[in-house]
Amino acid sequence: MNSNYDFLIVGAGLFGSVFAHEVTKHGKKCLVIDKRNHVAGNIYTENIEGIDVHKYGAHIFHTSNKEIWDYVNSFVEFNNFVNSPLANYKGDLYNLPFNMNTFYKLWGVKTPAEALKKIEKQRSKFSHIKNPKNLEEQAYVLAGKDIYEKLIKGYTEKQWGRPATEIPAFIIRRLPFRLNFDNNYFNDTYQGIPIGGYTKLVEKLLIGIDVKTNVNYFDNKNDLNALAKNIVFTGKIDEFFNYKFGKLEYRSLHFENKLLNIPNFQGNAVVNYTEKKIPFTRIIEHKHFSFGKQPKTYITKEYPDEFSKDKEPYYPINDKKNQNLLSKYQELAKMHDKIIFGGRLAEYKYYDMHNVIERAISESKNHI
Ligand code: FAD
Repeated sequence: MNSNYDFLIVGAGLFGSVFAHEVTKHGKKCLVIDKRNHVAGNIYTENIEGIDVHKYGAHIFHTSNKEIWDYVNSFVEFNNFVNSPLANYKGDLYNLPFNMNTFYKLWGVKTPAEALKKIEKQRSKFSHIKNPKNLEEQAYVLAGKDIYEKLIKGYTEKQWGRPATEIPAFIIRRLPFRLNFDNNYFNDTYQGIPIGGYTKLVEKLLIGIDVKTNVNYFDNKNDLNALAKNIVFTGKIDEFFNYKFGKLEYRSLHFENKLLNIPNFQGNAVVNYTEKKIPFTRIIEHKHFSFGKQPKTYITKEYPDEFSKDKEPYYPINDKKNQNLLSKYQELAKMHDKIIFGGRLAEYKYYDMHNVIERAISESKNHI
């Protein structure tokens, strides 16, 4: 192993891989390690029966930044997938995000004027709530009873693992309603899925770079540090400092996967289950991300979960308590000028893929 690297990059996810690619282009030498047995971090896709399976949750690439769109397309071609999820409530299907198709299904209204009138009527029943104290009150004020109780309440309570009356109101400050028949979930200019999967994108980023998987930084920290002049750390910031001030909290997920001997299970990539009594939040049918025609299909039920030591940390909980704790770790991090903390775990921040790419490119510019 070369002992003269410019950068030891802990984590072969999107942040680590984009950073490694960018500095390598400028002649720096990198060693990328990951504790998992594969590269690509949470955007890892595995080919099963010809289907690209999103192993850590469904990922749809979307951005309005043309530079970032051109950047990812310079490594892999993207298809023209458009995310149009459905919601299943007690066996009835509703289009998301909330649009004329949803309103038609809910109330039979056929024009934007009819829909607006109905929404206003639903909201007016809660006009006595002037300062919503929790998510439930906020949702009643913004959307009224039907939309809240059929499409928001159960899903949100499952996601957060507590009643909507105990979730802060600020979580849904706005609820965009579309007064047209557009089921495209995202408002971004560009959207799609890499043809051949996200793993291919990351493998392309890492061409010509030394990569070691199944290597946990904390198992061999001193020897690994000795290999490079600088470190890019994309793991958990609290773990880096040995949880000195306490543990940052996350929401986790677990997945139940099934390969089915039928060509088509639900006719759509994403179907949300908005009833509280159904324990999972959604079913993903992976082949529909790439318009697959395989004879079999692969589905994943996604269950929200409490986070514990052995579970994946998926979503940071950005409440006051965790933000205060994060600030303490960030103060410590500032004292380590040879270490760059980047990505969703090291920054304790929910980032979409295009945000992480932008962050990694911009950070890399400080080191070339
Ligand atoms: P990661 O991908 O987590 O990479 C960090 C890597 O560091 C991991 O591979 C980990 O194994 C490694 N690591 C950690 N600690 C150590 C250690 N001690 N030693 C060695 N290696 C270590 N974004 C979108 O744009 N569209 C979507 O549709 C979308 N869907 C999502 C769905 C879910 C369920 C989730 C949770 C996120 C979603 N995202 C989506 C966000 C997307 O996953 C992130 O933007 C992206 O994965 C962040 O990359 P990263 O490199 O920061 O983190």
